[in-house]
Amino acid sequence: MLVQKLRQQRDLTDQEFRELLCCENNDEDLKQNADAVRREHYGNKVYLRGLIEFTNYCKNNCYYCGIRRANQKISRYRLTQEEIFSCCEEGYALGFRTFVLQGGEDPYFTDDYICQIVSKIHNQFPDCAITLSIGEKSYESYLAYFQAGAERYLLRHETADPVHYGKLHPAEMSCTNRQKCLFDLKKIGYQVGAGIMVGSPFQTLENIIADLRFLQKLQPQMIGIGPFLPHQDTPFRDESAGDLKLTLRLLSILRLMFPKVLLPATTALGTLHPMGRELGLKAGANVIMPNLSPTSVRKKYMLYDNKICTGEESAQCRSCTERRAAGIGYEVVTDRGDAKDFCKNS
Ligand code: SAH
Repeated sequence: MLVQKLRQQRDLTDQEFRELLCCENNDEDLKQNADAVRREHYGNKVYLRGLIEFTNYCKNNCYYCGIRRANQKISRYRLTQEEIFSCCEEGYALGFRTFVLQGGEDPYFTDDYICQIVSKIHNQFPDCAITLSIGEKSYESYLAYFQAGAERYLLRHETADPVHYGKLHPAEMSCTNRQKCLFDLKKIGYQVGAGIMVGSPFQTLENIIADLRFLQKLQPQMIGIGPFLPHQDTPFRDESAGDLKLTLRLLSILRLMFPKVLLPATTALGTLHPMGRELGLKAGANVIMPNLSPTSVRKKYMLYDNKICTGEESAQCRSCTERRAAGIGYEVVTDRGDAKDFCKNS
């Protein structure tokens, strides 16, 4: 009943969301409907995004994150422009048509430098989409990156509840500013990705419902969710990991609420469970983001403990993805995978 209603109306009351989120009894039904809706719009296609983790320096101190400023145990690195560029070349040869440049908030990469890197990639690979995931910046900075050729931006809102936000971040960071950034990005014309960690410390079901309401307001083209996983050198080292079933349930709910959204089966999900990404695809996800970072730095971009795919070469990650998707009846494709007609305003 609830699942059918959600599929038809793409919305439920808070009480109905509560019922759906709290228990396992609808999980099978949710998954089947989410997969059916995903197939209506995307068939059995899985889109690839090549992730280039280009710096693990960060000026922020988020309590959950392994590359937070206060973590003095990690060895910090920055890729050079040339190194970033060779990751793209390697990725292009492997069939990637989207490059995601992700990093900590690292002031070494000034706006000019980011623009230089973006326009170089844009000129060399005009048939590729460039996605940035480099945190909170000013409207002017976002605009400059966009004009240089970046078309997509991933910035998880982390939690829509300001009180919960305050428990995950130090006082100098704000929920309001993060949300403003997302609306700025949309206004400029980016395809935007928001999202949360499932099971982050202190998260309640009410918080998750507020996240769903926020996503309805934002109408992002992409939604990144994965389980929270503890990192040993953060204040949250003793917290427990997010729940697999809840993560999958939420993926299905998101697919039913936002039928055309691009929804990754994340590395965190694959870290939580050996078949996590496959389970994610079956629950409604349609994107995988294999790692394109140089093998030499992969272990240094540890957002959480035991992160997978840190020992492999890019080509191995690429073929592993293909094999995993094919193993459960999905097909990895190499087109850019835009969701242009998804956004209400465009
Ligand atoms: N500096 C960029 C990129 C952050 S890393 C930014 O601010 O957007 C990308 C995402 O990894 C974060 O948004 C967060 O949701 C997730 N992440 C960080 N630490 C994590 C952890 N311990 N467990 C699971 N996900 C985590």
